[in-house]
Amino acid sequence: ATPISIMVASGRGAQQGLLFKDAAAIETMRDVDTLVVDKTGTLTEGKPSLASIVALGQDSRENLLMLAASLEQSSEHPLAKAILDAAKVEQASLVRPTDFHVLAGGGVYGRVMHNDVAFGNARMMDERGVMLDGEAIVKADALREEGSTVMMLAVDGKLAGLFAVSDRIKSDTPSAIADLKASGLHVVMLTGDNATTANKVARALGIEDVHADVSPSGKAQVIETLRKQGRRVAMAGDGINDAPALVAADIGIAMGHGTDVAMESAQLTLVKGQLSGILQARTLSQATVRNIR
Ligand code: ADP
Ligand code: MG
Repeated sequence: ATPISIMVASGRGAQQGLLFKDAAAIETMRDVDTLVVDKTGTLTEGKPSLASIVALGQDSRENLLMLAASLEQSSEHPLAKAILDAAKVEQASLVRPTDFHVLAGGGVYGRVMHNDVAFGNARMMDERGVMLDGEAIVKADALREEGSTVMMLAVDGKLAGLFAVSDRIKSDTPSAIADLKASGLHVVMLTGDNATTANKVARALGIEDVHADVSPSGKAQVIETLRKQGRRVAMAGDGINDAPALVAADIGIAMGHGTDVAMESAQLTLVKGQLSGILQARTLSQATVRNIR
């Protein structure tokens, strides 16, 4: 494309809240045939709130919330915020963990009040050697069927509670996905969340291709596989855990309300975090490239 047409396009894009990193990004957008979207924070609002706590052992609900929230104080994950908000509302008195670790795409663990506490998904429980009994599995699945994301809390290696968190689908997501599909894009959902919750959201949006339970490095692998199949892939995401996938895609698209890491890893930022911006960017790219031919 000519420098002039690129300048015009990037100016026009900026007016619509579409920030392209460079000329190549504008040109690439037109050739994309597959759009991979992260679920949390991209399709959903990314503002999860705590829906319920199920105590499985001796610990009271209050104590479970105190332990989980104490650990999450040092986490920047949106799920952590849901837990901390609930702790604040319930005026839980939190303590400083004496040890703290993050398992990316899995959860957090450390020492709180002389207890080994782990809080995260089933993969994390598996890695920490925590057994899930039948009751826990049945109860967790029931919560997921409602579309909630379930986090598990283990104290000293034993499962102590389930936390159900729900995150609303953004109001403009259904129409944006329908329009993107109608424009001929193959839409794929990619998420670190579990399959039951992911499928529930995907079904509501008419997304047929779902990859769930995917670790951050696994997200990049899914993108690479699609590219090896000859697809031209755009990946849209907002989180730190999406960064490797954004880099692996032909074009990475970051949500403006997302993390800095996502924006640094992407070639296009949707300032208002609006999914409809992807279609606008594609239309702009098509018009620009057509003009110069
Ligand atoms: P997504 O792809 O939906 O943005 P992530 O890869 O960040 O999800 O996380 C995958 C799963 O790991 C979450 O659904 C949650 O169960 C668990 N998890 C991740 N981070 C945390 C955290 N800070 N606290 C508790 N659980 C977490
Ligand atoms: Mg996300």
